[in-house]
Amino acid sequence: MASSLVASIDNGLSHIAGLVDRPNLDYENIVIYSSWLLAAFEIWIYGRQIRMYSLKTAPKELGGVLPQELFDKAQIYGRDKTRYALMKAAFDSVLSFLLIRMHVYSRTWDASGRFMDACGLGQDRTVTHSLLWISFLTMLTALPGIPWSYYYTFVIEEKHGFNKQTVGLWIADQVKTWALIAVIGLPFMAGFLRIIEAAGKNFVPWLMLFMVVVQLVLQIIYPIFIQPLFNKLTPLPAGEIRERVEKLSQKLGFPLTHLYQIDGSKRSSHSNAYFYGLPWSKHIVVYDTLMEKSSPAEVEAVLGHELGHWYFSHPTKLLLIAQSHLFFILTVFSVFINNTALYRSFHFDPRLATHNPAGGPQPIMIGFMLFQLVLEPLDTVVKFGMNAVTRKYEYQADEFGVQLGMKDDLKEALIKLHKNNLSSPHNDPLYSAYHHSHPTLPERLRAMDSYKPSSGLKLRGEKEL
Ligand SMILES: [Zn+2]
Repeated sequence: MASSLVASIDNGLSHIAGLVDRPNLDYENIVIYSSWLLAAFEIWIYGRQIRMYSLKTAPKELGGVLPQELFDKAQIYGRDKTRYALMKAAFDSVLSFLLIRMHVYSRTWDASGRFMDACGLGQDRTVTHSLLWISFLTMLTALPGIPWSYYYTFVIEEKHGFNKQTVGLWIADQVKTWALIAVIGLPFMAGFLRIIEAAGKNFVPWLMLFMVVVQLVLQIIYPIFIQPLFNKLTPLPAGEIRERVEKLSQKLGFPLTHLYQIDGSKRSSHSNAYFYGLPWSKHIVVYDTLMEKSSPAEVEAVLGHELGHWYFSHPTKLLLIAQSHLFFILTVFSVFINNTALYRSFHFDPRLATHNPAGGPQPIMIGFMLFQLVLEPLDTVVKFGMNAVTRKYEYQADEFGVQLGMKDDLKEALIKLHKNNLSSPHNDPLYSAYHHSHPTLPERLRAMDSYKPSSGLKLRGEKEL
């Protein structure tokens, strides 16, 4: 029964693979047209949001709490940020159009091959060649974004008083980020290619296993080796905030091991709090900027919300969704891996087959990069879907905070965060659905008023709250 199911899925996939591999399918033009369409959609959405910044008064939920002066400031900041995002989106689509039309994908492949010949790197061609090529391509696609990032930090954020970092710190961050991409990314890609080479047609479960292990390892090494490169965590000093958070964790049965503060103020005055760790040992991190601006009761309410995410297992659920998404992508990729029409329409030399010692028709890395270009429009749909899920989780975590009896402090804390971050008071619904993982402040305040103080929330080791 199970084996016949596997066989019929296998047949189905081979059938689809045949359908999507026909010489008359011009993938280059399909990618170009779909990415223009996507860019037009994104620019239209930014335009809708930019119109919101012409409104002169706050929405009624914020009427009493957002002074006119602050409202005006938030409108100007929002307009600056959204105009920037619109220009960046336009720039990115022109850049990706040029990369495709000028055959940069195939030209850099050939150039990295010549480079290898010049260096006398003859052994084990495909994997080394692939890594060299992907490094070239990453630089070509990411380097043009660096001036944009500089402008965002030192012009826009600076103008509105949020930037706290020096040019030196910004450069150090860039260098460390690129070094990390190389140190982690290249061995990861090498493993990825080797697994597909070794497992052949049925690589999906092996690759899934590999990626799950990599994610676990990264989660373990992130706080130990990666985060200290950028930020300093110090134990939260004894005092009212520590007392409140420890008491709250105890009451909820949250396995708190360490309570830290993080020096977010080094880079920006935006503020936040979060938790991480293994199921039996969790760590809470509070931004120094949050503590500076909020009362202890408000910090506790923000953590009440965060622990709501833990109570409802939101991180685990999101992880499962991400794994299913990955499984889906890899399965579709297994259909595209030997697609000759895809390789040909992006001007790759058909004689490439002779370069592949594994005997497959084409180098896997090329297929994977081109496949991602084809799949890009799907990301838009995924983005809408993921935001819908995370918004639902945010409402649930807010409701959890309300049921803990923290409604007023949570509201006050969110209003303060909104004011301090100069968040946009008005949001176009479509823009919000596409760009926001959290509901907007007016939406959250309205929802909090509708929750009943206690509706069956059960705490571990306690009776109903
Ligand atoms: Zn949240």
